[in-house]
Amino acid sequence: MAIPLIGKVRQIFSHDIGIDLGTANSLVFVRGEGIVLSEPSVVAVDTDTNKVLAVGSDAKQMLGRCPGNIKAIRPMKDGVIADFEITEAMLRYFIRKVRKPMNIFKPRVLVAVPSGITEVEDRAVKDSGTRAGASSVHLIEEPMAAAIGVGIDVQEPAGNMIVDVGGGTTEVAVISLRGIVDSISKRVGGDTIDEAIARYVQRRYSLVIGERTAEYIKIEIGSCCPIEGGEKTLEIKGRNLAKGLPSAVEISSEELRPVIREVAELMVEAVRTTLEKCPPELAADLVDRGVVLAGGGALLRGLDQLIHEQTNLSVTVPDEPLLAVARGTGAALEGMDLREAYGL
Ligand code: ADP
Ligand code: MG
Repeated sequence: MAIPLIGKVRQIFSHDIGIDLGTANSLVFVRGEGIVLSEPSVVAVDTDTNKVLAVGSDAKQMLGRCPGNIKAIRPMKDGVIADFEITEAMLRYFIRKVRKPMNIFKPRVLVAVPSGITEVEDRAVKDSGTRAGASSVHLIEEPMAAAIGVGIDVQEPAGNMIVDVGGGTTEVAVISLRGIVDSISKRVGGDTIDEAIARYVQRRYSLVIGERTAEYIKIEIGSCCPIEGGEKTLEIKGRNLAKGLPSAVEISSEELRPVIREVAELMVEAVRTTLEKCPPELAADLVDRGVVLAGGGALLRGLDQLIHEQTNLSVTVPDEPLLAVARGTGAALEGMDLREAYGL
C-alpha cells in the first residue's frame, strides 16, 4: 500500500521536529537532518517588563551574573513544568530556530516529556507547542524515547530497564511491548550533585561557589567509585566567606566521593524500588539483559559500577547518552508517520 499522496507531499516539505525538553538541556531533532540544536533549558527574563531576553546558552551565561532586573529561569528544573509561559517561549525559540523560512508547512512536533507529567501539564505542552508554531503536537514519555534512542527494540515482549539520569530527575522505567510497565521519576539528578558539592566546599573551605563552578568540578573530578588510572585534583575559585575576597583552593576526587555517593545512592534506590515492583518474568529478563543508562548523569564516573555493585545487574552506558532522548524522538517520528499514513 502506498502512503497517501498528501502524506507524501507533507513528508517532503515539512520538517517534522522532535524535541527533548530536558531539565538541563533541550535538544531538537529535525527529520531528515538529525540533531540540529542542543542548548541549556534556560530563559532570561526582564522582570520589569516580563520580556524574554535570551534563551539557551546566551541565557545560561547570565545565570548567577544578572543585574537586579534580569532573571535567568530554568523552567523545567525539577522535572515538572514550573512556568508554562517560559516553557512556551522556549518551545517557540526552538521551533523558529530550526524552521525553514520558505516552508509554508508548519512542522509536526513530537515532545519528549517526563513520565510523571500531569494531565494539566500534558495539555499545557500541547497548547504551548501549537501557539509556538506547530501544526500538531504529540507527546512521548522520555524513558520510552531514551530506550528507542539507545537502540533497544521496544516492540519485543521482553523487559528492558532504562535509567535516565538528567539534571533534575532520575527516571527509571521497565519497558516491554512498546509500553512502560513500571516507572519511577525521582527528583534527584546531576543538579542535586552540584548542590551537594557547593555545600561541601562552603562547609569545608568557607568558599562560596556558583552552580556552574560546582557542575564543572563534578565533570572534571567527580566520581562514585575509586577512579581507575588515578585520583584527580582541581584548583577551584570562589569567594571566601570570612574575608569576602576571591580565593582559590585545591580539592581532590577522593574527598568529594562521599558527597557525590550520597546522592548517587538515591539514584540507585530508584533502580532498586523499580526492581522490587517488577513482575517476575520481566525481572528474569533484566537479569539477562541488564540495565541501560541514559542522560548526562550516565557520564558520571563510576555510576555504572555503583549500580552494578548494588543490584547485581550488568550496566551499559551507550555512546553519547546525552543524545538518547532526542535520537529516540527522531526514530519515533518515522513510526508516527507510518501510523498516521496507514491509520494504525
Ligand atoms: P536533562 O534531560 O534533565 O536535561 P541531561 O540528560 O541533559 O539532563 O543531563 C544533564 C546533567 O548531566 C547535568 O546535571 C550535567 O551536569 C550532567 N553531566 C553532563 N556531562 C557530564 C559528565 N561528563 N559527567 C557527569 N555529569 C555530567
Ligand atoms: Mg533528559
